[in-house]
Order: sequence, then structure tokens, then C-alpha cells
Amino acid sequence: MPELPEVQTTVDGINRRAKGQTITDVWTDLAIPRPIKQFVSTLKDLAFYKRFKSLVSGAKIIKASRRGKNILIHLNNNHTILIHMKMTGHMMYGVYDYDKKQNSWTVHKNEKNEALRDPFNRFIHFVISLKNGKYLVLSDTRKFAKVTLLKTSEIFDSHHLKNHGPEPLEENFSLKEFAERLRKHKNKPIKMVLLDHSVIAGIGNIYGDELLWEAGIRPLRLVKDVSEKEFSLMFKVMKKVLLKGIDFGGDSMSDYRDIDGKRGSFQNAHNAYRLTGKPCKKKGCKGKIERVVVGARSAHFCNIHQR
Ligand SMILES: [Zn+2]
Repeated sequence: MPELPEVQTTVDGINRRAKGQTITDVWTDLAIPRPIKQFVSTLKDLAFYKRFKSLVSGAKIIKASRRGKNILIHLNNNHTILIHMKMTGHMMYGVYDYDKKQNSWTVHKNEKNEALRDPFNRFIHFVISLKNGKYLVLSDTRKFAKVTLLKTSEIFDSHHLKNHGPEPLEENFSLKEFAERLRKHKNKPIKMVLLDHSVIAGIGNIYGDELLWEAGIRPLRLVKDVSEKEFSLMFKVMKKVLLKGIDFGGDSMSDYRDIDGKRGSFQNAHNAYRLTGKPCKKKGCKGKIERVVVGARSAHFCNIHQR
């Protein structure tokens, strides 16, 4: 699932490619008349989608930003499109063709960017048409992504975002606040608390494993057994690992692709995530990466230097 670095990479891409563009239309094949409760007021709700379409058509994209794992596309009509890519979603920009018979979209034959033709980029379920003849599209194999529209002034108080903890890369987020927030969950495993977006926003399984490897802390260690010194180290390496993820253009071990349909490369820099059985890469460490289950999700750690 895209985490903070992947979502930031996409947001930066939207700002690079589509900022200042006017939306002429939107399309989806996910809207149905009577969606289940959790899809009401999203793109999957036909009545909502009709309102969405009329509200965003004609609006200009001011800029995109990020909150946790959510993409926020701010429009000049006091509304904001919120997109959570979930498991397999990613946004791309290019020239596309609509096939009326099939009710589907494919890359236009004149599109020069070959990366958009990557098989992982074929599952187009949401399209924003732009005045310059290009398109912002959402490819999503498993169709779990969430797309909705909110008044910009209400977005941070909406149920989508109001429970989010602080942004780990924000400058005014201090070590003191980091430690205090985690310590409220003293009897839980550290990995589980790091992944709780109401404690800190944006960290998922990949970056959680990687930062604990760097900090030398086992994923199952209880928060109450983490020392002052270790909190300080964890705070430092958390920022380091997330910034490295952004530098590498995100992680494409799974479906994630950037705005141009290209893979990121953080998957080549893993030290722990999905390296079960491999020797530890830490200098001088003779350990091996093991896998353990934490809160129904797998965690990967070195059996020697992580304690
Ligand atoms: Zn090790």
C-alpha cells in the first residue's frame, strides 16, 4: 500500500504536471445506484458522483498537497478532491483514449511515454479530463481506492482526516511529542503503534520495518520497554527513512507507479522488509532477517542487532 513517501511522490507529480490546469470533465466506472454504507458520498455512489462531476467540471487545480496517505487536490471553487490510493491505486498523467463500446480507457497511440503502457497501469477507473488535452487518471487493480470531494474549509475536520496524528516530516513535530504520543500505548508492540495513523500519520508496513531495523528495535517490543535514548534514535531514523523513500521516488515492490507511470526504487534499498531468511546488511552484524506477525500483519527484523 502506498505510504507517506509514495503519496508525496504522487502529490509532487500532480503539482509538476497538472497544477494550474482546468478540469473539463470527470469519468468513472465505479459508481453504482445503491452502494454499501462505507462507499456513500464517494465516487462509488452514483448520486454523489453526479454532484461531484458538476462541481469539479470547469474548476481549476490550484495545487495538490498530502495529509497522511491522502492526496488532496485543491480547486479554485473552494472544494478539494481527496484521494486515498489504498492497496493498488496510483495516479498518472498523459494522453488517453476513451472507447465508448468498451466503456474503458487506454493510452493514446500518440502518447510517447512508454511507461504508461506498463501492465500495472492498465486498470483505469477514474479519469479527470484537462483543458490542455491531457488526463489525470487513477489505475487501481483491486478498486479499493477512495475518491471524494469536500469543501476545502471542512477537509481537516472531516471523518477522513480528523483522527490523523501529526505529520512525521513536519518541522514543528518534536521528539517530545513523538515520545508522548507513543507512550500512551505503552502495552502495545512498537510496530503496531508506529502504524497507527491516529498516533503518527503516513507510516505503513514497509517504512515501519525499515525504521525499526535502523533503530535496532524489534517490532514486537512493547512501547513501555523502549528507552529515552531509543525514542530519540527512532525519531531521527523515522525522518531519515521517509526522506530516503521520497528521494528514491517511492517503493514499487507492489503496484505503485509515479505520475509518469514509472517505478520508484526504494524496494532495492530495503534492509528488512520482505527479506526473510537473508543475511542482515548492517555492517558487522551476523544476523538474519526473520518474519513475525504483529497485529495480523507481517513484520521483518534482524534476529541479532534488533532487540
Ligand atoms: Zn542485524
